[in-house]
Amino acid sequence: MTTPKKVILASGNPGKLREFNHLLADAHIDIIPQSEFNVPDAIEDGLTFVENAIIKARHAAKLTSLPALADDSGIEVDALQGRPGIYSARYAGEPGDDEANNDLLLTELAGVPESERSARFRCCIVYMRHANDPSPLIADASWEGRILFERSGDNGFGYDPLFYVPTHQCSSAELDPDIKNSISHRGIALRNMLQQLKLKPLA
Ligand code: IMP
Repeated sequence: MTTPKKVILASGNPGKLREFNHLLADAHIDIIPQSEFNVPDAIEDGLTFVENAIIKARHAAKLTSLPALADDSGIEVDALQGRPGIYSARYAGEPGDDEANNDLLLTELAGVPESERSARFRCCIVYMRHANDPSPLIADASWEGRILFERSGDNGFGYDPLFYVPTHQCSSAELDPDIKNSISHRGIALRNMLQQLKLKPLA
């Protein structure tokens, strides 16, 4: 496959855009956020991460006539039978609000002991060469941890202040952004995607 010149990034989430830009800094592709083309958010009505990632990538590719990269991600909490999952961004209602989502998560987990607070972030990344691409490239990854009893740390976004990373004994909002990118669901999925695109994988 030839190296794509310009690729639309189908996300308006500032936290995700920061991480993508960082991870793709050396990838020799020209990543353009869909906001630069005034692409409105797609209607995410899929029932799985992969469906929603395809919906977002197809929507951006269709409106810009460029190849598109999209991710759909979220957190699965075992004590909540996998919720909020694909609804993570709008768990506490529309419009999505990180603080309200974290408050609701703490409320729903009140009284749940540490041993039953296991959770994981999931990320599915899709690359579509054009809106009618019949075989999108797909990369997914997960990141295991557990939900804390209170917020900790100021880095990252979303549920990071409540996500305890056992390997580093801190929340993901306390991790240096480089460290988070090297071990996170998004970092791993994106490196896998870059390999599929035969671009230089990042360290
Ligand atoms: P999406 O934009 O529909 O994929 O929504 C993803 C949502 O999942 C975000 O708004 C966050 O609430 C949550 N999320 C995904 N990845 C992360 C992460 O790396 N840290 C914290 N929260 C995340």
